Amino acid sequence: MSAHLKAVGLKKSYWKGKNEVPVLRGVDLEIERGELVAVVGASGSGKSTLLHILGLLDSADWGKVYLNDKRIDDASERARDRLRNRAFGFIFQFYHLLPELTALENVQMPALIGNGFLSYMANRAAMKRDAQELLDRVGLARRGSHYPSELSGGEMQRAAIARALFGRPEVLLADEPTGNLDSKSGENVLTLLRDLNRERGLTMILVTHDMQIAQQADRVVRLCEGRVEEWSPALA
Ligand code: ADP
Ligand code: MG
Repeated sequence: MSAHLKAVGLKKSYWKGKNEVPVLRGVDLEIERGELVAVVGASGSGKSTLLHILGLLDSADWGKVYLNDKRIDDASERARDRLRNRAFGFIFQFYHLLPELTALENVQMPALIGNGFLSYMANRAAMKRDAQELLDRVGLARRGSHYPSELSGGEMQRAAIARALFGRPEVLLADEPTGNLDSKSGENVLTLLRDLNRERGLTMILVTHDMQIAQQADRVVRLCEGRVEEWSPALA
């Protein structure tokens, strides 16, 4: 079976003045369709950098990214924008909700960004219905008119998950999605992600430094010294 998402030989460095600081030194990774893979590694090991490169939020210095066997990292700016909007959904540690929009409006943001205001206005009833369905699914049926400041951390992350799902992505990329939550809310968010992975066959990459969380994934890979290695409980 061919991989859904594949990285080949990714290299990325940052520069501190004249000093090269290598972060990724040749990362190879294959994710199957519907797989939930956890990426672990120490703080600063390059987990976010890798996730951003896979989702086209950042680019590597070297190497290739494939989605459904098609190379995507070298696509045109416009094609990359479309992929970022349609193929990938992103979830961040600090939610990145817009404070001046309600939960329901936040969920619809990808449509506004991806299709433009006029197209959004033409379809707004359907958009609103879709957004409400997603809020229902993540357990926020009655929170649509609330602003982020009126939601708990767990609720904000649920709204962010609904937003990530809004464009019907194939791949969900989550960067420490429970990192800012207390353990109970974190557990609930993880259960939600796990359920969404199963029921929608969503391919998911979950960055975390929490081994408890990582072990609920189908597979765990560890970033260490700029490369990924398969991790198994036997190695712990
Ligand atoms: P992680 O998510 O595993 O904590 P990151 O991918 O955020 O790690 O960062 C990996 C390394 O790259 C860190 O040493 C970090 O300081 C450095 N880094 C990340 N982003 C930048 C940037 N924009 N400019 C310079 N250095 C960066
Ligand atoms: Mg990070």
